[in-house]
Amino acid sequence: MFFKFLKGRNKKVDNALAIEIQQAVSDLSTFSKWRLKHGQKIFLGLETRKNWTGYSPFYLFWCQNCSRYAKDYPRGFFQNYLCCPFCETTYDF
Ligand SMILES: [Zn+2]
Repeated sequence: MFFKFLKGRNKKVDNALAIEIQQAVSDLSTFSKWRLKHGQKIFLGLETRKNWTGYSPFYLFWCQNCSRYAKDYPRGFFQNYLCCPFCETTYDF
């Protein structure tokens, strides 16, 4: 727990991302939201970030740990997991 606190996340980035996610979720149908809460991921599109050379596919998913919608791209050597940007819980992709 304390370790997590020490790592310190950039609140500003988190807030911007939270707004981005909120907007993506508001465009979804009730059925899509239901699907998210039942463990499905929704492809949002290809996006790039500061200091990236290319684009990655971003997905919307439901984080069971912090009970909120999250958005991330497949990470890891095999690009096989998503990471909640708020609590850093990982989910198999
Ligand atoms: Zn989370």
